[in-house]
Formats: sequence, structure tokens, C-alpha cells
Amino acid sequence: MIKTDACIVGAGPGGAATALRLSYLGIPSILIDKSSFPRDKVCGDAISGKVTTLLNRLDPEILQRFNGQPIQSDVWGIKFVSPSFRELDIPFRPNYVRKSAEAPGYVSKRLDFDHFLIEEVKRRDNITFYESTAIADYERTADGWRVRSKDGSLEVETRMLIVANGAYSRFSRLQAGLEKDDRHYAAAVRAYYRGVKQLDQDNFIELHFIKSLTPGYFWIFPLPNGEANVGLGMRSDILARRKLNLNTELDKLLQEHPRLRERFRNAELVGKVKGFGLPLGSKRRQISGDHFMLVGDAGHLVDPLTGEGIGNAFYSGFIAAEQLEQCLQANDFSAAFLKAYDQRVDRVLGSEMRLSYRLQKMLMYPAVVNLLANIIAGNQKILHVLSGMYNDFSLREQLVKPLFWVKMIFKKS
Ligand SMILES: Cc1cc2nc3c(=O)[nH]c(=O)nc-3n(C[C@H](O)[C@H](O)[C@H](O)COP(=O)(O)OP(=O)(O)OC[C@H]3O[C@@H](n4cnc5c(N)ncnc54)[C@H](O)[C@@H]3O)c2cc1C
Repeated sequence: MIKTDACIVGAGPGGAATALRLSYLGIPSILIDKSSFPRDKVCGDAISGKVTTLLNRLDPEILQRFNGQPIQSDVWGIKFVSPSFRELDIPFRPNYVRKSAEAPGYVSKRLDFDHFLIEEVKRRDNITFYESTAIADYERTADGWRVRSKDGSLEVETRMLIVANGAYSRFSRLQAGLEKDDRHYAAAVRAYYRGVKQLDQDNFIELHFIKSLTPGYFWIFPLPNGEANVGLGMRSDILARRKLNLNTELDKLLQEHPRLRERFRNAELVGKVKGFGLPLGSKRRQISGDHFMLVGDAGHLVDPLTGEGIGNAFYSGFIAAEQLEQCLQANDFSAAFLKAYDQRVDRVLGSEMRLSYRLQKMLMYPAVVNLLANIIAGNQKILHVLSGMYNDFSLREQLVKPLFWVKMIFKKS
């Protein structure tokens, strides 16, 4: 039996970020994962500036080590393709000059990226990491939680339990009461392809809005080894209503879509097409309780428009670590005290997710996507403004305001 103040279940980006932040705060932790690393995680593999900002905040040397490895492609912007095939190239920075500075985003296979994080975890003396150890039991004690591994090899008594074991977290469902709600949940499939034609030379990631699949989208994200991460995601309730099967839809797209079929004609599937769930943050949930906090997907924190969850898992992990520091100082681990965790996560991520939800609803209709794409494509001024939105949230908020579009349309390009 091990006793600790901090036990983290799940060592994906959320759990690893929590352990690293705690470590830099001088707080020892136990980190447990059922897998042995390197391990795959079904994902689009796109890593936003949120992650690199936080790694840099933790320790600039971590970011240098990340940039020093050949495991990521630098991403400089997004190519949107409307249902009517209108293409819009939007750099992540206005007045974009290629390789002018550090890239604003990356694509890195989760096999590599998560392993990189685990290597960082292993550098820290005050993180005890158990891999190949699946936690099966959670039991409330007078002073926290007792967790037990499936094979009985590990038993930990902790004052604070940080649950970061992903979209299918049993603790999140059974103990914390976060039910799956199909209107706030998405499903997605992902495949690796070699030999996809016409990948962007500056690794712009591609989001294709397809008529039958809005507000979901098809993506192509270029990887550093010449492969591409290719996938399709969609809100679960809409999938069920339209009776769509994502594997079949992906197959159909690659073989029949007038633009895509040429690009994939001689491309080779590497491995299998795999699917996984995305618990979206479009519904506000309680993500803490007596002696526990939920981090990342276990706390339903995926962006409802883009499906981005790595950055949000990182942010919630950092906030959880800082909250635990407060708990230790105040010697208070109660649900009432931990409300501060929910409040801070909401302050940092809530408005962005609510905006994404509004945009998701707006993009539900192919005609609206086509109309917006046509307006934007013919107007350099709007394109310039949109470039600033990646880094400027207040600018992004304008997107849901009709007046913004009216002003933009009547401004000379
Ligand atoms: C198809 C798809 C595409 C996506 N694309 C992107 C993208 O491009 N960019 C992006 O930012 N996000 C993307 N996401 C979302 C992203 O994958 C998740 O939001 C992110 O992985 C969340 O990190 P996490 O640490 O919370 O959970 P996870 O990464 O799921 O990590 C959870 C960890 O817990 C471990 N675990 C599970 N159960 C147990 C147990 N009982 N005991 C011990 N350990 C356990 C697992 O082995 C795993 O290592 C995508 C998701 C999907 C499904």
C-alpha cells in the first residue's frame, strides 16, 4: 500500500501535464497508466499553440527538446474547403512569412508525442510512474480515495485523486456522474495514409466540410514522415439521426469524392482505420468533488467545433496541479473548496468552448458554410482578419456576430 497526496490515473497529455506541473511546484505524485509507452491513441495528432505555450511556461528546455526531435511537422495555417469545393488558405498569423519564427502549431503522432511527455515525466525525481497498470477499483476512504489495479499489484491511498483516464473513464461516469449525452459527444475515425497527393508544402492542415457531414468534417493533417493523418468526425446524435457509419463514409469519400479520390488514388493505408469517442465541452459539467478532480477527456473538455482536446487536457492538468497546491496549503480537499477548480477551468476554457459550440451550430447548414466561404474567398481584408483569430480570442468572438460580417462585406478588399 502506497500513501500519497497526489495520485493521477491516466498518463496521456492530461495526466502527464498534471504530474509535470506538480513536479515543478515541488509536489510529488504517483502517475499510473494501463498502457506501456510508447502507445498509440486514436487522434488527429494536431497540437495547438496552447500546448507549446504551456510547455514553455513549465520549462523552455522542454520545448527545445521537443523541437529538437524529428517527431513533428510544423503547421503554419489551415486550408478550409467548403461543401461547394471553395478553398480558403488561412495562415495562423497575419502577414505570414514561412519559417519566420517558431511554428504556431504541430502535427505529431500521439505514439511519439505522448512518449515524449513520458520521457519528460521520467526525468523528474518526484514523479513515480507505473505503466502497464490498469486501475479497476476506486474506493472512498475517510481521508481521500483508495485505488487498486486490476491485477492487485498496486494499491494507492491518496488524499487527492486526479482522474485523467480519457473519454471512456469509468470513474468519471460512475463516481463523478458525468453521463454521456449524444448532443455533446462526437465520434471520429482516423487512418494513416502514405502517398497522399498535393499535401501543402507549409503543412497547412486541411478541413473539408462535406455536404452530408456538416457540422462534422473530414481532415488531412500532414505528418513529418510523409504520411498523413486522415479522418472524419461528427456529433454522435447527428450521426445516429442520419444513420451514418463513419468507416463507410470515409471509404466513400476517398473513393468517390470528386476532389479527394484523385489525391488518394495511389495512396496506401498504413495500419487500420480506428475510431474513438470525443466528450465535448459544450455542456457545463461539475468536474470535481470530495478529494477528486477530472482532467482532460475524463472531464469532457474537448472543443465542440474543432475536436481539439490535447490543449484543453493540458490546461486542465495545469489548473488541477495548481489547485492541489492550494488544497495542501489550506488542508482542505472538500468538494466546496474544489469548486475553485471548476471555476478556473471555466474561466480559462469555458468562453472558448461556448463560442465553438455557437460556431458548430452555425456550420450545421452546408448553405451557410458555402455562403461564408464565398464571402471570405473574395475578400483579402477578411482573410487578413481571420489570420489573427488563431491567437486572438476577442477577434474570434466576432465570427458569430452578424454585424461583423456586414462590416466585412462592405469594407473594400
Ligand atoms: C479521432 C480523434 C481525433 C482527434 N484529433 C485531435 C487533434 O487533432 N487535436 C487534439 O488536440 N485533439 C484531438 N482529439 C482529442 C484528443 O485525442 C483528446 O482530447 C486527448 O487525447 C485527451 O487527453 P487525455 O489525457 O485527457 O486522455 P487520453 O489521451 O485518452 O489519455 C488517457 C490515458 O489514460 C489511460 N487509461 C485509461 N484507462 C485507464 C485505467 N483504468 N487505468 C490506468 N490508465 C488508464 C490510457 O491508457 C491513456 O494513456 C481527437 C480525438 C479523436 C477520437
